[in-house]
Amino acid sequence: MSKREQQFTKTAYDPLDVRHHGAIHVPIYQNSLFAFESYAQFDEAMKQLLDHHVYSRGNNPTVEYLERKLAELEEAESAKCFASGMAAITSAILSVVRQGDHIVCVHQAYGPTREFLGSYLSRFGVETTFVDGSSLEQWHASVRPNTKLLYLESPTTSFFELQDLRMCAELARGIGAVTIIDNTWATPCFQNPLTMGIDLVVHSITKYIGGHSDCIGGVVMGSKELMDRIGYSEYMLLGGIMTPQTASLISKGLRTLPLRMQRHEESGLLVAEHIGKQSFVSRVNHPGLPSHPQHELGLRQMSGFSSLFSFISHEPTERLKEWATRLKYFKIGVSWGGFESLVTVNRLGNEETGERTPNVVRIYVGMESPKDLIADMDHAWQAV
Ligand SMILES: *Cc1c(COP(=O)(O)O)cnc(C)c1O
Repeated sequence: MSKREQQFTKTAYDPLDVRHHGAIHVPIYQNSLFAFESYAQFDEAMKQLLDHHVYSRGNNPTVEYLERKLAELEEAESAKCFASGMAAITSAILSVVRQGDHIVCVHQAYGPTREFLGSYLSRFGVETTFVDGSSLEQWHASVRPNTKLLYLESPTTSFFELQDLRMCAELARGIGAVTIIDNTWATPCFQNPLTMGIDLVVHSITKYIGGHSDCIGGVVMGSKELMDRIGYSEYMLLGGIMTPQTASLISKGLRTLPLRMQRHEESGLLVAEHIGKQSFVSRVNHPGLPSHPQHELGLRQMSGFSSLFSFISHEPTERLKEWATRLKYFKIGVSWGGFESLVTVNRLGNEETGERTPNVVRIYVGMESPKDLIADMDHAWQAV
């Protein structure tokens, strides 16, 4: 069975569990607490809170079911789900650093992540150096004796640049640092960083994994040792847990994740190739295209390419915004990973410096017919 086919098995509901009366979806355990038959059982559970069902700010069966499914897909020993991607990211980071430590982070990581590292954590005496993630020399040159964390996001959020996961993991191992990667773009279907030596993987579940624009969520995955540390400290103490209702919705969406990612990959490449040929486009940033400078690296560490990419345009911002407004299928909006295709226009560099400052236009290719999407783009540009 191919790896992609196996993913369908991994996301399927478990064989009938008699306790659930044959329900084909995992039931929502709307419980804050779980009671015990005997004090001996209670004492036993309290020793290992996270391995038993005691209290839902710890281990709720509906959330646990999703955690087990996600861990299987990501080839992780253990997973913990959080209230948002940012709750997962900040908890994972806090679990590995303390006052006086140093972090090296890819400079185009997700904005709030950069703010947390570069600004918020500096209040607690943790310093971060941002590097061009595509340059191994920069990673090497930036580590210090007190570097405790290398933070990756591959591909990056706006420009879709890659980092060499295996090389970064090797560098970190050599200096006793931990590696964390934001794997939201690739999903567990297209990239499994733990198999390449990365220590912790974080995802915003809000995007492809959720897939229906109806939930906010996040997950951290890794070895049982690192995850137990997060479980008993950041997860329990900061309390940014996922609710059982959200876990139930995500579990339903997860079953179609491999299927959705196949569709996104195909449609995304078709639309990216087409847009690359347009006169108003200077460059397309999509690691799945052979024109991407790190396409070969992408093929080595990913088994597929998702459908969020950007293009650079020297057209005036107002014109690009008018184009975006005229699009019928593409909606204007943040986030991504659901049914609808999306577009946002962002001026690069200084807003004051004249009309021809390049713009980066982010495109999310959803589930609509790629033919319709391509026609939509062409018609809208003709009208502009
Ligand atoms: C959206 C996003 C996040 C944050 O996730 P939330 O669920 O919104 O907190 C983190 N990383 C990446 C790459 C994202 O796209």
